[in-house]
Amino acid sequence: MAGLPYIVGNWKMNGTRAMLNEARAIDRAAARFPKVQVAVAPPATLLYRIRDAVELIGVGGQDCRAEDSGAFTGDISAPMLKDAGADFTIVGHSERRTLHSESDADVKAKGEAALSAGLAVILCVGETEAQRDAGDAEAVVAAQIEGSCPAVDGAPEKLSVAYEPVWAIGTGRVPSIEDVAAMHAAIRATLVAIYGEGGADVRILYGGSVKADNAGELLAVPEVGGALVGGASLSAESFLAIVGAAASLGND
Ligand code: PEP
Repeated sequence: MAGLPYIVGNWKMNGTRAMLNEARAIDRAAARFPKVQVAVAPPATLLYRIRDAVELIGVGGQDCRAEDSGAFTGDISAPMLKDAGADFTIVGHSERRTLHSESDADVKAKGEAALSAGLAVILCVGETEAQRDAGDAEAVVAAQIEGSCPAVDGAPEKLSVAYEPVWAIGTGRVPSIEDVAAMHAAIRATLVAIYGEGGADVRILYGGSVKADNAGELLAVPEVGGALVGGASLSAESFLAIVGAAASLGND
């Protein structure tokens, strides 16, 4: 798997201008961790301001509409994110899939729109607790990837897949290291089946209750190429502890 470990903060619907200081602090500290790729996905209202305030870290959206423009009140398109200075966007987060009833086809269209607009994409997938308990986790995630991966030329180079078990998001619970390893290996196999050799280059992130005290162990799992971090990304201190854990994994 190519590339530096990728640590991305998903701020969700949190943050006003007061959070600019956290972004600046993360950016300043990123200079100490040149072997880690660091990014934040703030609310869209802060994207432009954070882009202007930082130099080293990536900045991205949390979602985009599949259409470029039109009568879609409240929505934001991929070209708009790009225009505001985004490098990437998240698509298919479980909160979007659940609260906004987004299907795999919707997510696929969003990812393709983002790539067309010149953004990299972080595609989120993950099973519910009931699906895991039923022994269906790998099949559910494979079906999500097959249904929602962008199918455009050059997609693998700009795509990351974030495995986020729904039951681990914001709960303080994480899967066993063995389960993370098995799922990431299964995701790799699915990506290679879809993209051929290119599937080997897609970065696979783990997300769900990543904190400073579990990050090192999770990031050391084979095929875990980084982390998508929610709650612990809301303060520079806790986020940078995760970045530091990634930096200590022997990539230097
Ligand atoms: C997320 O929602 O993408 C996430 C990983 O959240 P948390 O780290 O808070 O579990």
